[in-house]
Amino acid sequence: MRTRTKPLLRVWEWQAEAACRGMDSAVFFSPAGERGRARRRREEAAREICGGCPVSGPCGRFALTSRQTYGVWGGYTEAERRSTVPVNPK
Ligand code: SF4
Repeated sequence: MRTRTKPLLRVWEWQAEAACRGMDSAVFFSPAGERGRARRRREEAAREICGGCPVSGPCGRFALTSRQTYGVWGGYTEAERRSTVPVNPK
């Protein structure tokens, strides 16, 4: 029986080019209880990194299609992803 699942390496290969590779993930994921200005500042710092990332497209598509609940992915915040219609991954 054939499977339509992509090999795992291909699913994640874009991460090799990630601007955030090796960085502290705390800038992308909120600590418990974070709100307001602190949250906006952290998300803006993450989006700035994503803005210079060569794989922000695949990263954002992955987050949308796999419905990542937490963190900034591809420059999209959690709130933005919740209000975005998932795209078809290519
Ligand atoms: S777009 Fe942002 S979260 Fe995604 S790989 Fe690039 S730097 Fe990391």
